[in-house]
Amino acid sequence: MTDANMATRPRGKLDEADLLVTQCLIGGAWTAGERARIRVDDPFTLDIVAEVPDLDAADTARAIDAAGAAFPAWAARPARERSQALRRWLDLIIRHKEDLARLIVLENGKALAEARGEVDYAAGFVEFYVEQGSRSLGEIIPAPVEGRRLLVEREPVGVCAAITPWNFPLAMLTRKVAPALAAGCTIVAKPSELTPLTALAYAKLGEEAGLPAGVFNVITGDAAPIGDTLCASATVRKLSFTGSTRIGALLAAACAPTIKRLGLELGGNAPLIVYDDADLEKAVDTAMVAKFRNGGQSCIAANRIYVQSGIRDRFVAALAAKVQALRAGDGFDPDTSIGPLINPAAVAKVTAHRDDALGQGARVVAQGSAPEDHARIVAPTMLADVPTDALLTREETFGPLAAIIGFDTVEQSLSLANDTPFGLATYLCSEDLALIARVSRGLEAGMVGINTGLISTAVAPFGGVKLSGLGREGSAHGLSEYQNLKYICQAGL
Ligand code: NAP
Repeated sequence: MTDANMATRPRGKLDEADLLVTQCLIGGAWTAGERARIRVDDPFTLDIVAEVPDLDAADTARAIDAAGAAFPAWAARPARERSQALRRWLDLIIRHKEDLARLIVLENGKALAEARGEVDYAAGFVEFYVEQGSRSLGEIIPAPVEGRRLLVEREPVGVCAAITPWNFPLAMLTRKVAPALAAGCTIVAKPSELTPLTALAYAKLGEEAGLPAGVFNVITGDAAPIGDTLCASATVRKLSFTGSTRIGALLAAACAPTIKRLGLELGGNAPLIVYDDADLEKAVDTAMVAKFRNGGQSCIAANRIYVQSGIRDRFVAALAAKVQALRAGDGFDPDTSIGPLINPAAVAKVTAHRDDALGQGARVVAQGSAPEDHARIVAPTMLADVPTDALLTREETFGPLAAIIGFDTVEQSLSLANDTPFGLATYLCSEDLALIARVSRGLEAGMVGINTGLISTAVAPFGGVKLSGLGREGSAHGLSEYQNLKYICQAGL
């Protein structure tokens, strides 16, 4: 289907109409719930596009029981068999890529090309763990005394819970579910109430792939009672959460009494540092991707762009030309580069960050186009001369606002970049190998992108330090997060 056809199709119209799922999946049974329903809106038209169940604590407990009942048989299957089930699921994701992308645009608002990219990215995790699941090796340790054999085996941690955000409704889910299932765990997932439809369609495809009942359960509803029940449950042995640091800290505290494994992918406040010797074109491309991918609604978005004095004027002029060409609008329109923001609070935050910077002497140097007076759309904007203590240097902006802040020395750049309680992604642009080595070591972060803003991939460990979280997703490390090590010491040999 061409982009032109896609644009003329009615919103929400899928090739497979039954992928617009409005029920939850618990123990292999679809449930509509008994209470009021949660409304899902299209962030561009503001129309209600679907209603999903508002499940409660008792429903959550049922989902945990279902995952608990399914766990022994799933864990006992050979890894290769689990991989085969994941492979069938992967094939269905790929076959239904266009519908999944349309669902993402419908409920999240992002541009269709980005939504397609998200489906590819999400599928990448499933593909990686289809393969990695069969390559998970134990250890034989040379015994320190005679007559003993020391083995280390890997076991699935058990029933897991996954709580995911709205900004990447499919990818944030597959990067938890694929390694969990490959490791032999079963899972209860709770997507954001803002974007549940993608997760429900994904569950439908899992059912079609022949996943046994209870292996993957998905529930929607008010986050607090669902979260409380998942955290308090002694059956749930791991919580994997992606979202804000505030909620992550609350959930970690709630998981403490049951000593759960935790995976926390939390907020970021990524710096991008452009040094004088940087290749201008590469630096501008890096900034465009690192800042404007997903409309800036990404935990690894470059929130603070530090540019050294010798290159600053040229960089500002070149980036301004690209920002000017951005177009905010309807995600289904093929000419749109940036969709609407997720909700009015997101718009208010970006506006507050812009106004604060302008109030402190920053100036607007470029602005892309946008429909006038749309409640959820912010025109892509670039600010220069932003002071080092502007509000946006301390909080995630989560929107299409590029802030250029000046610096003079390498020491200064490191101290500014690290002056944050967060430590997720960082970026730097330079052609000087010694400088690159020095700065990448000096940055307090889980990830460093050098001359690129595109660092996310299923094959590398994604995660942060400081208030950005615990644990890693993706790569072989992402599988270990769902495994316990069992040390077996056999004597008398
Ligand atoms: P959020 O408010 O923390 O929500 C994330 C998830 O937690 C949603 O499913 C939400 O449900 C749920 N939730 C909210 N309150 C809860 C509670 N009391 N108990 C249990 N669950 C609860 O974060 P967000 O604003 O949606 O997402 C943006 C944040 O995620 C940003 O800070 C971003 O940096 C971070 N993020 C991090 C990564 C990473 O990999 N490090 C990736 C993407 C996003 P409802 O939406 O239904 O309320």
